[in-house]
Amino acid sequence: MADLKEELIEFAKTIGAAKIGIADASLIKNPPQEQDFDPENYVDGAKCAISICVAFPEDAVGLDDEDDFTFCTSFGSSYVTLKRQIDTIGAKLVKFLEEKGYKAKYIGPELPFDKGCQICGLLHPYIHKLIATIAGLGEEGMSNLLVTPEYGPRVLLASIITDAPLEPDGPKLVGKVCRKCNACVEECPTGALSEENYPPYNFERNRCFWGYFGGMRVTEVDTPPLDWINAKPSALSVLPKYKEQNPRLKELLDWDEAIGNFPKCTRCMSVCPVGAEEE
Ligand code: SF4
Ligand code: SF4
Repeated sequence: MADLKEELIEFAKTIGAAKIGIADASLIKNPPQEQDFDPENYVDGAKCAISICVAFPEDAVGLDDEDDFTFCTSFGSSYVTLKRQIDTIGAKLVKFLEEKGYKAKYIGPELPFDKGCQICGLLHPYIHKLIATIAGLGEEGMSNLLVTPEYGPRVLLASIITDAPLEPDGPKLVGKVCRKCNACVEECPTGALSEENYPPYNFERNRCFWGYFGGMRVTEVDTPPLDWINAKPSALSVLPKYKEQNPRLKELLDWDEAIGNFPKCTRCMSVCPVGAEEE
């Protein structure tokens, strides 16, 4: 089956995947932070999960300090375009596997927020991070993002579950990519990241949501209000109230409806030195 894997990887690269790797399905079943996740729920007889990664264009990330219009039309558009690109790659790879006689299901880059797991906004949901780590694409950094040696955390992730017998790559980059420099922790304006613990337990989702949904941007106050920090099950429950009270926040979030949702803070992504300089 080495030929099938080689052919799949080659095809994925020709249609725009920056990286691709294979995870053994048994290693992603009922993981600690999402215990109801089972590859068999997607594909009977699932043997592996394929991790797909696409990279942001250089300079697309790190525009947080620009005015809203520039940020939304530049980073926002790049983010939404990349989401469409990875969906197209996923659909083509599923078709490729089906034509070879296998079953395959695509899981897109966005998963629901309210899964109770630690996530950094919508950027790298837990399941995709786990699959990418076990498939050897990178490792979870202090930023709670998947950090790849080539592109740092400036990537989007998606996965395919399949019964194709592809040889797993293994978590070969764990302990080898994040430099523990804590630049992401220091630069995180909302205090969502901490150096006192290790990922994912150093991440406060509600604080990150303040950056992610644009509360920080429109109020120009880095620390979220107390009712936002303490909101349960998450700050999403108080977001409508803030949107009603703040016309600029409403205006900013209307961009999501216009072009598709995207994070309003990218500091932890942009500041990471991995993959960002000539080495
Ligand atoms: S830097 Fe922004 S996106 Fe990253 S964890 Fe902090 S608030 Fe969230
Ligand atoms: S900024 Fe430093 S600590 Fe944070 S993920 Fe990147 S390498 Fe790791």
